[in-house]
Amino acid sequence: MLQVLNPATEEPVATVPAATPADVDAAVARAAAAQRGWAAAAPADRARLLRRFASVVDGHIEELARLEVTEAGHTIGNARWEAGNVRDLLDFAAGGVERLNGRQIPVAGGLDITILEPLGVVGVIAPWNFPMPIAAWATAPALAAGNAVILKPAETTPLTALRLAELALEAGLPEGLFQVLPGTGPVAGNALVEHPGIAKIAFTGSTRVGKSIMAKCAGQVKRVTLELGGKSPNIVFADADLEAAAAAAPMAFLDNSGQDCCARTRILVQRSAYDRFMELLTPAIEEIVVGDPSDERTQMGPLISRAQLDRVRSYVTDDLTGIRGKAPEGPGFWFPPTVLTDVPEDAPCAVEEIFGPVAVVLPFEDEADAIRLANATEYGLSGSIWTRDVGRALRASRAVRAGNLSVNSHSSVRYWTPFGGYQQSGLGRELGPDALTAFTETKNVFISTEGPAL
Ligand code: NAD
Repeated sequence: MLQVLNPATEEPVATVPAATPADVDAAVARAAAAQRGWAAAAPADRARLLRRFASVVDGHIEELARLEVTEAGHTIGNARWEAGNVRDLLDFAAGGVERLNGRQIPVAGGLDITILEPLGVVGVIAPWNFPMPIAAWATAPALAAGNAVILKPAETTPLTALRLAELALEAGLPEGLFQVLPGTGPVAGNALVEHPGIAKIAFTGSTRVGKSIMAKCAGQVKRVTLELGGKSPNIVFADADLEAAAAAAPMAFLDNSGQDCCARTRILVQRSAYDRFMELLTPAIEEIVVGDPSDERTQMGPLISRAQLDRVRSYVTDDLTGIRGKAPEGPGFWFPPTVLTDVPEDAPCAVEEIFGPVAVVLPFEDEADAIRLANATEYGLSGSIWTRDVGRALRASRAVRAGNLSVNSHSSVRYWTPFGGYQQSGLGRELGPDALTAFTETKNVFISTEGPAL
């Protein structure tokens, strides 16, 4: 059994049965049967059903959002956006069904075409930090491309995923096409990875688990997409609008209590602007409203679990100095917004993903030094560049090794633009114009126009 707790109160919310390998076997058999009919259906019919699914989700935004507040401690504003994002992802993917075109390639003596075929049954393994959007990032395009999906949500956050599976049936999606199997990673997750009937694993989670999944997929040359961790830089040049950069820096790492793979947790500031930037940043951190996530004014809620709280605490030792915000006392997994200063560049808090409301500020000298520091990481997921010099913005955008950069903003995830990591932040891309293609095989067919070859 999986026990779901409300992270803001530590009160039990639900218990959910954990899937066994036998449950995974049965789910794969159901999915394979459903997928054959789905792939054979007319594209317009598949698109229509996905649009209907989007519309049913739209009718349940508030319910899904409240569920996410309860099981994950997300602020209500964020949770509404997340449920809306599922609707948008389904709508966007539905628009791709009839545009999933192959190519016609010039050849002598015939016609050469490519056909994009579905993979079959796709296993989606999701983390707890954004349970709804991340599940939908893979599920929506995989379904649109003609696959069946088995989604394994994280142990701590199965409830919104289970509700989405019910809404899919209500919308008329065939039984077995989209199944949700809550369970533990080592049992249910591993059974999906090892199952020969699963054609691809779309995994989002830690780099450690991602590496082990990639190694296991190699045994069957199973397709795999990995969306992993990050330690992303927020580079502030002295020529930037410092007021704007300092105002935006807190929520760039505090959103979702810092449990965000794209969190800008390394704030790199040009030394000549360092004192002024810190003067602006200090009150901005101290004013962040931390508390009851269902309160509309709350900017930051609790961490997901006691284990995560202990992990975050282990990085913020008493000898470290910096800025501390406020957090509630009493039950719940609370940690205040924290900015650490005067830490060595290679300190654990400066190089490891903490996945909590903790950032470090490190000074740099010039553009070359900024790029060196930004790239001094095994990750490469996202990053921000603050400058008024357009040439510098473009040079830095080219030089920083990361999959998702933003200039004078912290935006990085839109469902219609590609998302994914460099280096140990991941493998492959999700979202964007090619989202459906990632769930297809390309078949090349040559048709001779010259009659049978002698
Ligand atoms: P995690 O790796 O512990 O778990 C992720 C999922 O994998 C869960 O569903 C878990 O049950 C499952 N799992 C665990 N062990 C498994 C195994 N042996 N076989 C199969 N499945 C297994 O990660 P988490 O703690 O849930 O999430 C936090 C991590 O996710 C952070 O590192 C964060 O950066 C990363 N993340 C990345 C992105 C991205 O898009 N790059 C997005 C969100 C989160």
